[in-house]
Amino acid sequence: MASEYETGAIEVASGVFAFIQAGGATDAGFIVDHDEVVIIDTLMTASLANQMMAEVRRVTNAPISYIINTHWHGDHVFGNAVLPQVPIIAHDTCREDLFSEWETHRAFLRELYPALWPEMEPLKATPPSITFETKATLHLASRSLELMFLGRAHTRGDVVVYLPDAGVAFAGDLAFHKYIPNARDGFPVDWITAAARLERLGADVIVPGHGPIGTNSDLQEMRGCLELVVAQVRKSYEKGLTEGQAYVALQLGPFNDWGRQEDRLPGVIKRAYMELRGEI
Ligand SMILES: [Zn+2]
Repeated sequence: MASEYETGAIEVASGVFAFIQAGGATDAGFIVDHDEVVIIDTLMTASLANQMMAEVRRVTNAPISYIINTHWHGDHVFGNAVLPQVPIIAHDTCREDLFSEWETHRAFLRELYPALWPEMEPLKATPPSITFETKATLHLASRSLELMFLGRAHTRGDVVVYLPDAGVAFAGDLAFHKYIPNARDGFPVDWITAAARLERLGADVIVPGHGPIGTNSDLQEMRGCLELVVAQVRKSYEKGLTEGQAYVALQLGPFNDWGRQEDRLPGVIKRAYMELRGEI
């Protein structure tokens, strides 16, 4: 299992920090620019959000000016509620889905992480206040942050934060390094195209939503994993196999040591079938 990697606040370029958690848990980040700080994703609980804030305060006393949410999932946005109340930027559908899925999603996370529920329970829905459809630029004093929607992937509204001057891309859950991508609300077929678009930016450093910091080649590897899975699932679909039969037939080959196979592959197959049937 690829669970041994560098964790904590890691400065990947001058003033650009990734906040990396062990075991494929959720990653986030922050950018320090002169007298302001931009936070990328706020994690799932008050403790985690505060842990990241402590890392911010180790580096600077500057105020937080913006928060960016890469997508609506609780492990990336619940911390919005406990961080300084500043404008939160995200995709149009992130705001919609955060509201419409709120109760269902909380119930899902409660079941998945019972020990963390007491911490999640009191957090109020704190939605993005600035949203966009395809592209937005955040102009800071010394650098620009390009916020981009590259197509449906892990959700219908994943936002990548690209820093062209630093060659760093915060990919959110568009990138899972060394872990099977979670496609519960995803679009595995379209995801391949979105990942290829991200690769074409040519970032030197890719900060994923889960797993270790990587490069374009890690992203390529993840796309390869999705391509391999989707190609086999497509064949199974065309042969008229059920989703369960498609799961049994799946051969992961070079990705056999990737984490979270049993719980995530059925979701990948389910959503790919829905795409192939034209339902989503
Ligand atoms: Zn997610």
